[in-house]
Amino acid sequence: MAKKVPVMGYRCERCGHEWLPRNSDVPKVCPKCKSPYWDRPRQNKN
Ligand SMILES: [Zn+2]
Repeated sequence: MAKKVPVMGYRCERCGHEWLPRNSDVPKVCPKCKSPYWDRPRQNKN
């Protein structure tokens, strides 16, 4: 029986998209929304 284990993936802080990297490189952009700031939460600056 296969056991579900947490997988090291990435999650886009902008669109919430989650994906698994093909290699060990940190992706530069979110594959879905193409945002280069996918790893940074949106900052509220007033
Ligand atoms: Zn995204």
